Amino acid sequence: MASEQSEPVKTICPYCGVGCGIKVQQGDQPGDVRFMPWGEAPVNEGRICIKGGAATEVVDHEDRLTEPLIREGDEFREASWEEAYDRITEEMERISEAYQPDAMGFFGSSKVMNEENYLLQKLARRYGTNNIDNCTRMCHASTVWALRTSLGAGAMTNSMRDLREEADLLWIQGANPGEQHPIANSQYFRQAVLEGATVIQVDPHANKTTRSFEIEDTDRHQHLQLNPGTDIPLLNIVLTTILEKHEDDPDAGWIDEEFIAERTEGFDDLKETLAEFDKEEAAEQCGIPLEEIERAAEKYAKADNAAIFTGMGMSQHACGVDNVQNEINLALITGNLGRAGTGVNPLRGQNNVQGTCDVGAMPNVLPGYQLVDDDEARESVEDVWGFEIPPEPGLTNVEISNAAGSSIHGLYIMGENPVMSEPDANEVRERFEELEFMVVQDIFMTETAEFADVILPATTWAERSGTVTNTDRRVQRMRGVDKVHENTKHDLEILMEIGSRLFDEETFRFEDVEAVFEELRQVCPSYYGMTYELLGEEGLHWPCYEIGDEGDPFLYEDSFDTENGLGQIEGVVHQPPAEVPDDEYPLTLTTARLEEHYNTGTMSRRSPTLNRQHPENFVDVHPNDAERYGIEDGEYVTLKSRRGEITLKAQVTTDIKEGSVWTTPHFAEASANVLTNNVLDERAKIPEYKTAAAEIDVG
Ligand code: SF4
Repeated sequence: MASEQSEPVKTICPYCGVGCGIKVQQGDQPGDVRFMPWGEAPVNEGRICIKGGAATEVVDHEDRLTEPLIREGDEFREASWEEAYDRITEEMERISEAYQPDAMGFFGSSKVMNEENYLLQKLARRYGTNNIDNCTRMCHASTVWALRTSLGAGAMTNSMRDLREEADLLWIQGANPGEQHPIANSQYFRQAVLEGATVIQVDPHANKTTRSFEIEDTDRHQHLQLNPGTDIPLLNIVLTTILEKHEDDPDAGWIDEEFIAERTEGFDDLKETLAEFDKEEAAEQCGIPLEEIERAAEKYAKADNAAIFTGMGMSQHACGVDNVQNEINLALITGNLGRAGTGVNPLRGQNNVQGTCDVGAMPNVLPGYQLVDDDEARESVEDVWGFEIPPEPGLTNVEISNAAGSSIHGLYIMGENPVMSEPDANEVRERFEELEFMVVQDIFMTETAEFADVILPATTWAERSGTVTNTDRRVQRMRGVDKVHENTKHDLEILMEIGSRLFDEETFRFEDVEAVFEELRQVCPSYYGMTYELLGEEGLHWPCYEIGDEGDPFLYEDSFDTENGLGQIEGVVHQPPAEVPDDEYPLTLTTARLEEHYNTGTMSRRSPTLNRQHPENFVDVHPNDAERYGIEDGEYVTLKSRRGEITLKAQVTTDIKEGSVWTTPHFAEASANVLTNNVLDERAKIPEYKTAAAEIDVG
């Protein structure tokens, strides 16, 4: 059936958290969905990276799920939506009666829009459990914890635009925007540097970010290539250097005494923590000459406006909260918060990673980060929803997977692929075998969907409408073209149907996606001042507490959103990774993503343009290690940890330090997460993806 070629619609790239605007156009045949640049898009002004340009390639991919599937033994058979809905509601009712509502877990997704995540968490809570989480647990849970506790909000303090225009120094630690946020890097960070800003990059791996800042004036670019897992010692050297220099010359502007006195607490605690700190020993742990780190400390302290960017190299550790707290300490003692061009700014990985948390798809908070165990907050949401919310925080997603087959018997997954994305993947597979019931909504058959009992075919990003919230808190609208496959459904339609069948129409049936956003506004204070009309084409940076609020490009101008309005300084000490090299596993494995692929590869590996760039996984090995093991560049090797092994190509390079190896999580046939460690940060429950002990077998 031919459809008419339509006017292009303005939407948002489905990949990283930068939130670039693009257009999509429905061609004259169903499935002919074309990418078009959007020249005036607010974030990217028409520029696009390779992923964004290739995003429409997967919309009509031959692997798309087009009909509901129901398991029969080891096979799946096509089923009607009616049969699929009946099976899901029967099983969910059975699990609740046989055990209790907490025997179900729900996974939202940052690939999915605000309205859809909002409705999924509402469904979980109506079902009677707070066991709802999403993949941001895996990337920035520790960042969110530290920022919320010490400053007030788990989000970028500033916006990309004010940083480009006002920052004199960019401190990029554990983030690789050249690879992961290419337009932010090229259009904002590199522009700032070309106009005179200095950049300090702290990363164990030399990468596209490193190379993008290789400019002639080398004194304005420093790469501190530390050993994996030594971010706290490195920042403690920076902090100690600044405190010592201030002692020597109190008028030289090393710290901001007025800011510390008026707007923070805990400075004495920091000084006490660092009183006996041994900088020489710490520099050895980091594997960097002390004077290099001291030089970087001086640059940060002396910059008029210094901005910190933080990524998963900081957050994905068992000490992730402390890693980010130490960045906050640095910003607070130097007064680099509360004005344009400064702050502590997490770079988020997926297009709605901020919004998924904002709308409450987390086990401990309701929409707007209102604590689920706060009676007043819960009651205010209950007044709108019309049902009681369980008061106890639920399990996080790794905890839910760990409990599969013991206290968790059913799993509802929307757009997530935990078999690939969670650490110790072989163990995850074994646990999922033990589940009594699993439903997956997705666009493709994923490694996780293979364990499901019911698979529901969802529409892609290009076919749906709603909102997403990008890395700098900008809420933007997405708009969809016609469905490519008649019998697929939008995630929102599916959730409305299941909620209405399990409970009642009044709570779960909405006229359209905008009506869901209207309800979200009522329960999410920082979104209250936004409507679809006000979002327009530019979007708005939250918070917008009232209609008419224009949103804040930077937070905390007058005070922090903590209980007493003060920024919390808290000294932290080095905690070695849970697994360190030994005789059996003498290497340190660290992991990160590639520009051309996206997380578990579900979409990007089906994109011919992207997959051509990197069709298979590889491991970076330092030349000295390669010589010791007898590894040739391009040779296949077996990379092993205590949890499993994968076979992949070796790339011999000085991009990684001797004693460490580096690989990626995108490739199902050789996934880094077969090797990674399932140890969690105690508070934020984020896994330690970034360090594990490893060994290589050759031949
Ligand atoms: Fe998409 Fe991110 Fe690339 Fe922009 S930078 S086009 S949002 S992947």
